[in-house]
Amino acid sequence: MITTDELLNRLRGVKRAGKGWSAQCPAHEDRRASLSVAEGADGRLLVHCHAGCDLERILEALRVDVKDLFPDDPRGKGEIFAAYDYTDEEGNLLFQVVRFYPKDFRQRRPAGCGEWEWSLGDTPRVLYRLPEVRKAIEAGRRVFVVEGEKDVHTLEAWGLAATCNPGGAGKWPRECSEGLRGAHVVIIPITTKLATSMPNS
Ligand SMILES: [Zn+2]
Repeated sequence: MITTDELLNRLRGVKRAGKGWSAQCPAHEDRRASLSVAEGADGRLLVHCHAGCDLERILEALRVDVKDLFPDDPRGKGEIFAAYDYTDEEGNLLFQVVRFYPKDFRQRRPAGCGEWEWSLGDTPRVLYRLPEVRKAIEAGRRVFVVEGEKDVHTLEAWGLAATCNPGGAGKWPRECSEGLRGAHVVIIPITTKLATSMPNS
């Protein structure tokens, strides 16, 4: 694991902010201090860009490996690395796709009182960013369908409307198609390649 000081030393414009720090985000041209760094209660380092940069791109720019953010004794179980909210058209949370480190995905739904049920049961499977997708369709904008949530964030950062289905490529639930009714759809199967060939935006 990298120490907090080692991480802060790689950043510019570091200032104390609340219980953590703020700094210039290395993944975009940052005129303010969009990046927050904090020490999580579970010992890991939390890094977040308020302008929406993807964590992996931030870490790439810092030459830090994801695993270096986590304490060195990973109790064998895997740690939650990211949780992506899937909502209905009104924005009500239906379920989350949870990404673990080492790389593994699971789905969970709220079970009340801050608890989670680690199976979806008959929860409707919806598209990621459904409210934004519906708005884009109403506005006659194209909707890009990509492989995963990370790719959706990348395209959104470019000002595009994007979505993916829960469960990843090749597991398209039929009911997800409903969310795309009336849409001009562009399907991008390998966005990772695309991301590296596009200029920084
Ligand atoms: Zn950023």
